[in-house]
Amino acid sequence: MVSSLPLIDRYSRQVAVIGREGQEKLSRARVAVIGLGGLGSLVTLYLVGAGIGELVIVDHDTVSLSDLHRQILYREEDVGKPKAEVAARRLRELNSSVSIKPVGEAFTADNADDIIKDVDVVVDALDNWLSRQVLNESVVRLRKPLVHGAVHGWYGQVTTVIPGRTPCLYELFQLRSLPQCVGFCPVVGPVVGVVASIEALEVIKLVTGIGEPLTNRLLIIDGKNWIIDEIRLSRVENCPICSKYLGGKEK
Ligand SMILES: [Zn+2]
Repeated sequence: MVSSLPLIDRYSRQVAVIGREGQEKLSRARVAVIGLGGLGSLVTLYLVGAGIGELVIVDHDTVSLSDLHRQILYREEDVGKPKAEVAARRLRELNSSVSIKPVGEAFTADNADDIIKDVDVVVDALDNWLSRQVLNESVVRLRKPLVHGAVHGWYGQVTTVIPGRTPCLYELFQLRSLPQCVGFCPVVGPVVGVVASIEALEVIKLVTGIGEPLTNRLLIIDGKNWIIDEIRLSRVENCPICSKYLGGKEK
């Protein structure tokens, strides 16, 4: 496929790195970002800027004043408005060639499969482990690649789940690498930005097939002391989620 001139202009700095073929792959890719908080704000901006073909964005919440220190998609005038609606408008303003599909509903077991069944990659931009369990079960069942990111305080983590080839999030929960939030999650804004940027990069790598994704590795970021560490992950034999949908450990 021959790219049009405006497309080359728009993505010239990126095409110089990933090539025209990579850019074409991005333009055909469908990605779902689950959660439009701090992580979702930046992941969606980068993916839409990069020229992803279609982006499904999911959040049932409205914008609060206490979101604005880290959720950089939103402005003071947006407080009280639905995040999915505001995000869709801002993202279309950034790149009108990307198809944005807002879903202003909570992500639950009832709608999970419907939301992710037609996408190529799913991004975990959630803020709680209960919803992540729903998301995990759905991506394993439908065998969708999932880029997981989470933040707490000065800390963040990222890994990429390929069902059948890497541990799923259920197995990751057992590590308890980040504490569960009670009431709300305390976090420093730029830490969210670091984690979200790595998630967006993972999506670009998965879609284009360039580089080495964070599979079977959990990247841990300590933004307070600037320690970045990596934990090697391996699948457990008796994961109830993988056993249920994948028939146990696969090679
Ligand atoms: Zn599993």
